[in-house]
Amino acid sequence: METKEGTFQKQQQDVPGVQSEMNPVPDCGEETYKGNNRLRGRRVLVTGGDSGIGRAVTIAMFREGADVCISYLPSEKKDADSLKCLLEKEIKNTSGGGSGGGTTTCGGKFEMIQGDLTCEKFCKDLVEETKNRLGGLDTLVLVAGKQCAKNCITEITTEQLMETFQVNVFSMFHIVKAALPHLSKGSTITTTTSIEAFSGSPFLLDYATSKGAIVSFTQSLSKQVAHRGIRVNSVAPGPVWTPIEISGGYPQDKLSTFGKNTPMGRAGQPSEVAPMYVFLASCDSTYCTGDIFPVTGGKHL
Ligand code: NAD
Ligand code: MG
Repeated sequence: METKEGTFQKQQQDVPGVQSEMNPVPDCGEETYKGNNRLRGRRVLVTGGDSGIGRAVTIAMFREGADVCISYLPSEKKDADSLKCLLEKEIKNTSGGGSGGGTTTCGGKFEMIQGDLTCEKFCKDLVEETKNRLGGLDTLVLVAGKQCAKNCITEITTEQLMETFQVNVFSMFHIVKAALPHLSKGSTITTTTSIEAFSGSPFLLDYATSKGAIVSFTQSLSKQVAHRGIRVNSVAPGPVWTPIEISGGYPQDKLSTFGKNTPMGRAGQPSEVAPMYVFLASCDSTYCTGDIFPVTGGKHL
């Protein structure tokens, strides 16, 4: 695999990027992830589920028996449609069908909702619509994120600053606020921070700051809801090969060596991050809350 050798070709797409047009196409576990009923009966909302880490999480959770609804942007329809095509084929191919029975290890439902998380109303509607389509909601996986590299703080416009925080931080507040009344004992919320929260790159000032806020949000919220039996954790990925990196998130002149500075000497694939989200939503992690889980190729947080 190209990333294991650790070099990438220059490539640039408009935000937010389409992963099917990347070279190489990120590995989201389409061909490899095998489920084992670890999330049977769970009803999951994954934001930014069309591509990258969110797509890998969606595939993994669906194959673990969950019903999954993703959010995505209109310009990502191509990635979202290909995911729908993949998962709907799996529903058809399973003998039992549905999340309620049979021997299938696939979820029963896959749903997609298009919209922009910078809009508070969309965040609220997304929760309601997910609940309606899945017949309930018990698992939030907040993956959507905005990352726009700029070398100097003077280049970060107010518009960029606002949008970074709207997508990465404020949407979490809106979604959790709307979802919390529906969650109950055993529910989980998993956010997505980054190694950037702990050692921010000079060219990701606003992004790193927003990812620091996600750490604080996760820790604080976990204490607020622990008495209800709801667990809140965050995944902190290191460099992972996804559309965010080739659509302005990472400097083009550094792209060829993306991930090289990890002890493992390469970028990760989304398929290598997804199992951590499965763990945090599953009964395997019942004593974990308020914590940050690195998947970084050996870099310390
Ligand atoms: P990605 O581009 O595949 O996913 C980001 C997703 O965010 C997009 O698919 C899009 O659906 C969503 N999004 C962005 N702006 C949005 C908006 N205004 N409204 C609705 N949705 C919007 O890239 P990824 O790397 O898989 O990113 C997933 C998460 O992982 C992000 O939070 C990112 O910060 C985080 N992360 C990525 C890396 C990495 O190296 N790729 C490292 C650490 C953390
Ligand atoms: Mg995408």
